[in-house]
Parts: sequence; structure tokens; C-alpha cells
Amino acid sequence: MKDIDTKIIKVDSLRPDIKLIREGAELIKGGKLIAFPTETVYGLGANGLDPKAVANIFIAKGRPQDNPLILHVNSIAQVEELVMDISEGSRKLMERFWPGPLTLLFKKNHKVPNIITAGLDTVAIRMPNHPVAFKLIEISGVPIAAPSANRSGRPSPTMANHVIEDLSGRIDMIIDGGPTGVGLESTVLDMTSEPPIILRPGGIILEDLHGLVPEIVEDLNTIQYDEDMIPKSPGQKYRHYAPKARLILFIGGVDSMVESISRYRDSYISEGKKVGIMATDETMDAYEENIVISMGSREDNRTIAHNLFNTIRTLDSKGVDIILCEGMEMAGMGTAIMNRLKRAATGNIIRVGE
Ligand code: AMP
Ligand code: MG
Repeated sequence: MKDIDTKIIKVDSLRPDIKLIREGAELIKGGKLIAFPTETVYGLGANGLDPKAVANIFIAKGRPQDNPLILHVNSIAQVEELVMDISEGSRKLMERFWPGPLTLLFKKNHKVPNIITAGLDTVAIRMPNHPVAFKLIEISGVPIAAPSANRSGRPSPTMANHVIEDLSGRIDMIIDGGPTGVGLESTVLDMTSEPPIILRPGGIILEDLHGLVPEIVEDLNTIQYDEDMIPKSPGQKYRHYAPKARLILFIGGVDSMVESISRYRDSYISEGKKVGIMATDETMDAYEENIVISMGSREDNRTIAHNLFNTIRTLDSKGVDIILCEGMEMAGMGTAIMNRLKRAATGNIIRVGE
């Protein structure tokens, strides 16, 4: 792939300069690729109705062709143009949680190119809750296909710098709107199945969805993620979120994790390895003289979610060989955090006592 000139522009994320957004929208309409902030992570956008432009997303990211993309819209009317029908449950969820980090599956109609859905008869759609993303869709006048703006397999970008690291020279523009809010991707919910099923835990938690549609279940594969699971969603089967270093995830009681991580650290250091630790506010001081980063307090897993991918990338940039990471409780956002960490660990999981 030949290097292209990537234009980087800075915008105020709350009150973006419309002239700048218009520049981005022109690129989208012209079939180009631009990265922009959403409330979850940075997205790599293209005109979702232009199969050639969408094909370039797969090339720029190195994304497998059978992993479908999410379309981003700015109105429910725009959804109606892309799908066969909207169930009552889906409508209630859209009205309650949109704009926001909830992606819904619908039966697609002929307007949705096959490359978006990887040949499936369902299409994934969401409405982002970020002024830059929202205005960009509005001014482009088309649904924008936008996976996370990272090289395939790498941690998702939560800052423009992460996008520059991964995609500079491969895309036409990066809109820098500062750090993203949620820090993890959207929840992907299949409302076309009986019962409706969460294919990827994310920014909207199960407990909140249950308030409107109590039948929704979680796909055990996604929450207990292990290497030989049978994927319900194509994206589940790929290596994801992985640092350059080897990440080892510890699961169990807090004191036992600290003790076990300290032992592993000593042993790796004696082998001459450089070790980084992903800790929490409560445990940070228990690890002495080391590269230790706290992701936030165990009492507040939304902050941990917000910091997660940046922590992984920061440790990579320090050139560590091994990352030892504390696990979280599987409640609320903890489920989504552990889904990402288990995948980042690709099987390197150590269970310690309670
Ligand atoms: P990303 O774009 O990297 O945030 O990933 C989007 C996720 O949504 C991937 O895990 C996809 O496999 C999933 N997805 C998108 N469209 C569909 C679909 N039609 N059916 C099932 N999963 C989907
Ligand atoms: Mg992604």
C-alpha cells in the first residue's frame, strides 16, 4: 500500500467548528477514509453505501473480510431506509439508548452493500453520542461505516495519537477531538434472534437493557471468552485488543492476585524480562519499584473502562515484554472490561484463590 498524506485536524469535541467537519464530510462523500472520535472509541469512517470506499477500510486496517462493520446513523428515519422492519423492542431500545453505545442488529434491505455485512442478512446499526460523529453523519448525508480506527488485532484507539500510531499514511484524515468518553466499544445486541442476545458486552450494560426488554440474554461465549468458543458474531473469532507485549490476566481475590502477580514479576525479572503491571488504585502501592499503572478504582469500573486501552498502549510504548494485569469483577461494566482483557490475553489466564 502506497503512503498517503494523512491530514490531522483538531476540533473542540463539544462545539466542533462546522467548517472543519464539512471538510471531513466532503472526503466521506468522495469515497475517502477518515478517522473521527465517537463516545466509545475512535472510528475509521467511510460512506457506508459505497462498496469501494468500504473495501478500503478493510485494506487500511488489515481487517478480515468476513468481519462485518457497524453503520452509524443520526436518525431512526435513516435506519428505516436500511432495514426490512423494526420490532417494537428495537424501537423502544433506540428511543431510550440512542444516541449512545448500543448497536442493534436488523434484517437488512437491498440498500446495504454485502461488503458491510460480510454477506450476512443482518446489518448492525448505531447512533453515536458525540457531537463530531453526529455532525459528520448529518453533513455527509449517508450512513457511515466505522469500525474502530486501529490496525486489526491491536487495542482500540481512545485518543487521536493511537490512531496516528496505527493508521498514519493509510487514511486521508484524522479528526482529533481529544480522548473518548466510554473507552470501550458499543454493546452489540441481536434483536433478530429469539431470545435477543448480546453478542458483545460494551458501553450499555445488561442491567440497563433488562429494564426495557427483560428477555435479553448474554452469549456465554462472549462473557467467558475462551479460545475454542464457537462464534455467534463473526468478530468474536479474531485476535483482538492485543498488545505487542505478552499480556497475562489474573483472576481471583484481590489479595491473591497481588501476591501472585508479585511472584510472577520476580520470576520474569530474574529471566531478564521487562515487566509492566496493570493495577488499580487500591493495589498500586503493593507493587514495589516497578512499571505500575493504575487503571482506576475498583469502586468505579467506568473509569477503568475509560483507561483500559490507553494503559495497554502506554505499557507497549515503554517497551515491556510482559504485562501482568489484574482482573475485575464480572458486574456492570466489569463484564465488558473482562471480555476485552481475556481477548487481549489470548489464553494467558491465571486463576488464583479467592
Ligand atoms: P468493530 O467494528 O471493530 O467495533 O466490530 C464490530 C462488531 O460487530 C464485530 O464484532 C462484528 O462481528 C459485529 N457485527 C457487525 N455486524 C454484525 C452482524 N450483522 N451480525 C453479527 N455481528 C455483527
Ligand atoms: Mg474493533
